[in-house]
Amino acid sequence: MKVLVINCGSSSLKYQLIDTKTEQALASGLCERIGIDGQLTHKVAGKKIKDEEKNAMPNHEVAVQLVLDELVDKEYGVISSLQEIEAVGHRVVHGGEQFAASVIITDEVKEAIESCNDLAPLHNPANLIGIDACKKALPNVPMVAVFDTAFHQTMPEKAYMYGIPYRYYEEYKVRRYGFHGTSHSFVSKRLAELAGLDLKQSKLIVCHIGNGGSVTAVKNGESVDTSMGLTPLEGIIMGTRSGSIDPAIMEFIAHKEKKSIDEIMTILNKESGLSGMSGLTSDFRDLRKGKAEGNKQAEITMDAFIYSIAKYVGAYVAAMNGVDAIAFTAGIGENAIEIRKGVMEYLGYLGVKVDEAACEKTGEEVMVSTADSKVKVFIVPTNEELAIARETRCLVEK
Ligand code: AMP
Repeated sequence: MKVLVINCGSSSLKYQLIDTKTEQALASGLCERIGIDGQLTHKVAGKKIKDEEKNAMPNHEVAVQLVLDELVDKEYGVISSLQEIEAVGHRVVHGGEQFAASVIITDEVKEAIESCNDLAPLHNPANLIGIDACKKALPNVPMVAVFDTAFHQTMPEKAYMYGIPYRYYEEYKVRRYGFHGTSHSFVSKRLAELAGLDLKQSKLIVCHIGNGGSVTAVKNGESVDTSMGLTPLEGIIMGTRSGSIDPAIMEFIAHKEKKSIDEIMTILNKESGLSGMSGLTSDFRDLRKGKAEGNKQAEITMDAFIYSIAKYVGAYVAAMNGVDAIAFTAGIGENAIEIRKGVMEYLGYLGVKVDEAACEKTGEEVMVSTADSKVKVFIVPTNEELAIARETRCLVEK
């Protein structure tokens, strides 16, 4: 089955056309600056063939149409007719408590997604725009919503409730939801396979460390705790997000600098994390360069980053009363040797032993702990688009 996977942002649209039989992406690409001037990058089998082309892209409907045109283009296309697209899978950021699994999109489902807009005001409305634009262009093709939050709906109350008045949960559904669920689900399944474990009887920890990052405890195949919360701001230190801090810091800075709550939120979401701490960059590669050049702030930032990840792993070992295997994934998790090594060194007390040679490898499935390590540690490259395509196929074929 050929599934078009759509990940729609407020001014961008990422896409992949995936053949679920071979599990390969036939084409992929990105529309950027939608509503501004429009740029399209289109790749066929990983090779960039159209870059930064300026296209009039006044809205998402036009962007979707341009993507479909590329897919059937005589020169750059990968299918001969749009009828070959059998389903569309949409990444939807927030499903609140209403969605514990992926669903076929109906009018009722769209309404339910809309009712979660409050919880993800930057993302859900954009996801809905993408759904509407695809519905217009491909009216008879079934569409599926795959939620970032769904995998974490198995968390027990003790893990998702905050220590604040209960009425905020009752009235506004303030609780931990967690994100990156598609990735944590995909990677934990693969981790169990690689480690030779029965997923249904395993204790796993997945460290999804990219520009955004989260750590998840997966017990017997279900998420039982995760570091991101009501929003993706909570948890480990991230590229530009602070991760968990003392909430009183917000009031303290607001008073000191006469800032509004909106301004403080911008600082915590966009100007903090690796970027704010180092004063250099949110990109891990630049941070590494800064440290190598002797920048003290870069060194402290790197240490704090590793420490923040290790602390969550430690917490989740306690939450599950043990751990069988740990995975590192996403841009930094898959590629940054010093991060996985640094975290693993904190876990020596669990019997984690680093395989120095394997640890140097990047971006591929590999065991980075020694054969006699009590806890197995792997790099497991994530593939959220493939996970969305698989979910979509499963629901459409039902
Ligand atoms: P993601 O959000 O998963 O795309 O990850 C983005 C992060 O991965 C950025 O901080 C990049 O600097 C980092 N990254 C990507 N490639 C590498 C690499 N080869 N080595 C270290 N970090 C990398």
